[in-house]
Amino acid sequence: MWGGLRDGGFDGQITLIGSEGELPYERPHLSKGYLMGTVPRSRIGLRPAAQYRDFGIDLMLGHRVVDLGLEHRAVVIENGDTVAWDRLCIATGSDARRLPELPDAIYLRELPEAESLRMLIDRGGGLDIIGAGFIGCEVAAVARQKGGEVHVHEALAQPLLRVLGPELGAYLADVHRSHGVELQLNVTSAPRSERPTLVGVGSVPRTELAERAGLEVDRGVVVDERGGTSAPDVFAAGDVTRFFSPLYDAHIRVEHFQTAQRQGYAVGVAIAGDTELPPDEVPWFWSDQYDLNLQYAGAGLPWDRTITRGQFGKPPFTVFYMQSSKLIAVAGINDHHHVARARRVMAARKTVTEQQLADPGFDLRRVLA
Ligand SMILES: Cc1cc2nc3c(=O)[nH]c(=O)nc-3n(C[C@H](O)[C@H](O)[C@H](O)COP(=O)(O)OP(=O)(O)OC[C@H]3O[C@@H](n4cnc5c(N)ncnc54)[C@H](O)[C@@H]3O)c2cc1C
Repeated sequence: MWGGLRDGGFDGQITLIGSEGELPYERPHLSKGYLMGTVPRSRIGLRPAAQYRDFGIDLMLGHRVVDLGLEHRAVVIENGDTVAWDRLCIATGSDARRLPELPDAIYLRELPEAESLRMLIDRGGGLDIIGAGFIGCEVAAVARQKGGEVHVHEALAQPLLRVLGPELGAYLADVHRSHGVELQLNVTSAPRSERPTLVGVGSVPRTELAERAGLEVDRGVVVDERGGTSAPDVFAAGDVTRFFSPLYDAHIRVEHFQTAQRQGYAVGVAIAGDTELPPDEVPWFWSDQYDLNLQYAGAGLPWDRTITRGQFGKPPFTVFYMQSSKLIAVAGINDHHHVARARRVMAARKTVTEQQLADPGFDLRRVLA
């Protein structure tokens, strides 16, 4: 966000307060390359340390904010100190959804948790994973590649069922089983085993500060197209928000790295005085599992039909999700070009026929012309 502020010409003081002791880093590595050991600690930072100095950013790391201080325009830190503000941005992200019935469970959200999990996986023992969502599937893939015994327990009928649907879910189930994962589906209770248990059952937006301050919160801090909350001079960005998307004509909440980054930047330039609205954007994310790179673009909305480009189950291939003959989402396995092009088609609100989508010879960029 501070990048947007400085690029927008804001030359006032910027203070970045964060409860983690680390410089901001790219969380997606935690369940992928960092866990695998292929991406070192030195490569996960969002920006080189020197940039914070060069851009005049005051860092207050390892400090938890306990009150936004709307009345006196000064946030209160856990140790009682206060930091005055003229404009405030809440970017508290989300937290792993906890299962209180498993008090010893492991969660994966922050770097120290990834470090402990990596040590555990490197020791090569068994691991139970509750939840075959993205984090569960990615950790299962890393643990299997390191030779550990992995048991995954999923409440739904397939991995990633709600986002990807039953066909792609079943394909991923086969992929994990073929790599030796013991995958249990439709489970109704937590496993009883001696193995360490990782819980990956979704996340919840960290809205406590906003709620306590009386801001409008509806499964996320509610913001407009420029990140404005229900209070003057208070903005929010990233996972914590439910933002208005002109493209979907609805408030949506997205938990993707790129959306958080772009939204933060857009809020920064808006605070700096830019009156232009940010361009329409289709949410996008990726996941790495074994030798597969899965990319998805869309807002997770319901679909009534899917169309496949390529041979389903033989990467590279892509699945398009249609609602009333309109393209609303796309998922590709080792097929990022088609995902990127379909994403542009959706963002531009262009019409594309089912025949064009199914035809591997049809370049989707043609409908953008
Ligand atoms: C293991 C993992 C893998 C992921 N993989 C992918 C992926 O492959 N692709 C993808 O698109 N997305 C992925 N994501 C999601 C992506 O990381 C998030 O969408 C992104 O980090 C959101 O950024 P954010 O700045 O909104 O929140 P966060 O990154 O959660 O940052 C919020 C920060 O605020 C701090 N904070 C919270 N409360 C307070 C307080 N009271 N006082 C001070 N500081 C506070 C937190 O400690 C944290 O440092 C993954 C997430 C995880 C955890």
